[in-house]
Amino acid sequence: MPEKAGLTGKVAIVTGGTRGIGLATVRALAEAGATVVLTGRDEAAAKDAAESVSGAVTGLRLDVTDAKAVSTVIRGVAKEHGRLDIAVANAGIMEGALLGMIRDDDVQRVLDTNVAGTIHTVQAAARAMMRKKTGSIAVLASVVGERGSAGQTVYAASKAAVANVARSAAKELGGAGIRVNAVAPGVIDTELTAQLTEQARAGSIGNTPLGRLGEAEEVARAIRFLVSDEASFITGQVLGVDGGLVL
Ligand code: NDP
Repeated sequence: MPEKAGLTGKVAIVTGGTRGIGLATVRALAEAGATVVLTGRDEAAAKDAAESVSGAVTGLRLDVTDAKAVSTVIRGVAKEHGRLDIAVANAGIMEGALLGMIRDDDVQRVLDTNVAGTIHTVQAAARAMMRKKTGSIAVLASVVGERGSAGQTVYAASKAAVANVARSAAKELGGAGIRVNAVAPGVIDTELTAQLTEQARAGSIGNTPLGRLGEAEEVARAIRFLVSDEASFITGQVLGVDGGLVL
């Protein structure tokens, strides 16, 4: 039996919900009874992903680097459903390169997607939540943003920024009844980490006390907790979901 506790009647948006951690989060929120809108850059992929999940799930096209589109889509979701309770700013990309090999356009692409995209999403979600003076937002930081990582300078910088989006927005929005938290996953087995070399994956496993990569569902359950009323007095936190990698 799917778990129904907790999110019945809530409306959620998950950016980058077409696969990986985003899609697992959509599934976790829908299983708990939420109505979920997922987004991705390709409309057909977003609709296919939505259809793969049972429950009240729809898929929309949205590139989070487009601030105006983020605002329009989130406003539209809140208008259509009469409310927005949960937003998960999950969309993100990773580019690996040693310092000397980093290209300007890759810096821009990663910062535009991971940092600006997260800010656009938090901003638009907060606006939609303000009216009811309640809501919860989760953003995707990373263990790499906390610890740094050779060959991932741009990505690590972007994820450190995301953690501070959560902390700053939490301070600013607490008075409006809106909580903002981050999860900082370790190395999770998704398409994003499929680009890591076997050596890098083995190295991560070796440095992880629990001795394995994480599953997208394990991150999704932490996100579901943070955005639920179970976490009603938790805001501005960065929750590691990393098998102990950060230790
Ligand atoms: P995936 O590559 O599997 O999925 C990324 C998702 O982001 C896709 O749904 C993709 O959708 C979407 N996306 C990418 N760029 C954009 C954009 N400009 N606008 C809208 N959507 C976009 O990644 P993961 O599931 O592994 O990662 C999800 C998040 O978790 C990311 O923020 C990542 O940095 C973070 N994270 C992941 C870790 C891991 O080990 N996997 C570790 C730490 C953090 P589409 O291509 O359809 O547009």
